[in-house]
Amino acid sequence: MELGTIARHCAPMPAALSWIRAEPHGIHVAPADCWIDPARPVAQALVTHGHADHARGGHGQTLATPETLAIMELRYATRDGATPVQYGETVRLPGGVGATFIPAGHVLGSAQILLEHAGERVVVTGDYKRRPDPTCPPFEVTACDVFITEATFGLPVFCHPPVAQEIAKLTKALRDHPDRCVLVGAYALGKAQRLIAELRAAGHRAPIYLHGAMERMCRLYEDFGVDLGELRLVSDHSKDDLRGAIVVCPPGALNDRWSRRLPEPITAMASGWMRVRQRARQRNVELPLVVSDHADWGELTRTIEEVNPAETWITHGREEALLRWCQLHQRRARALALVGYEDEDD
Ligand SMILES: [Zn+2]
Ligand SMILES: [Zn+2]
Repeated sequence: MELGTIARHCAPMPAALSWIRAEPHGIHVAPADCWIDPARPVAQALVTHGHADHARGGHGQTLATPETLAIMELRYATRDGATPVQYGETVRLPGGVGATFIPAGHVLGSAQILLEHAGERVVVTGDYKRRPDPTCPPFEVTACDVFITEATFGLPVFCHPPVAQEIAKLTKALRDHPDRCVLVGAYALGKAQRLIAELRAAGHRAPIYLHGAMERMCRLYEDFGVDLGELRLVSDHSKDDLRGAIVVCPPGALNDRWSRRLPEPITAMASGWMRVRQRARQRNVELPLVVSDHADWGELTRTIEEVNPAETWITHGREEALLRWCQLHQRRARALALVGYEDEDD
């Protein structure tokens, strides 16, 4: 008998799981006829977090954390059918399905969803990370039969550095160039607020200046108790006010006309993709900051080991390498072909 066959016999039995299916536009829970993060409007949706590829408007009923519902209301200007679920709360859905929202450590309000039916447990992570984040509660390891994990940074080359090291690069650039400003491109939901909170944690007390497009999401975070210190709008200030300051803008504004009002900006960007030099060059980024809200390779593999499911389903971009890792470690796994998550923003 070859070794691979023995290993397969030792692996846990696969779960039966006829009640949950990965369809191209979302994960369908048949007994409750509801969808997790559906890519198109449905009668009943369970939404893991507020990023646009997971949270879409137009569902009949949306179950999500209060934070995620507030983010969706800000983005889609509707609360129709919004049903808040607190972390740790179990909702009873039709068909004998229980749904529990568990912190995912990704952005404000982000949740893994534990689904229970007929004695089987499935965890859908949505997006997650294991690094501490001052803007949201940490990921909780939850035992399950099937673990559905993202793999945005699912290659061994992706090893995110400690965030303090990247924040130190930013503050050093500021000290070295007191007559200029550092302009940081960061996604408006999650990355911008985490970056600001990490700067505060590192002792940066000076006002931080915002592009107008960041303001409402920052205020929403503050409404949920995240302290971001003193924030000011660039549009209320002169070029001289901004010398020696940090300015945060959406990535799309880094190279546009808007930045001409700033005093010789040093262009930075905070993203897990900054590990890839070509991506930094594409955006003319002088100061790439590798700060990610997704798990890196080490976090992905450690999480699978800690959760230790009978089966792992992999989604979001780089399924192949993680699938291979699972096979090499005698773990049952398969890649899902969900649409809309390739190379997602971070
Ligand atoms: Zn996300
Ligand atoms: Zn995602």
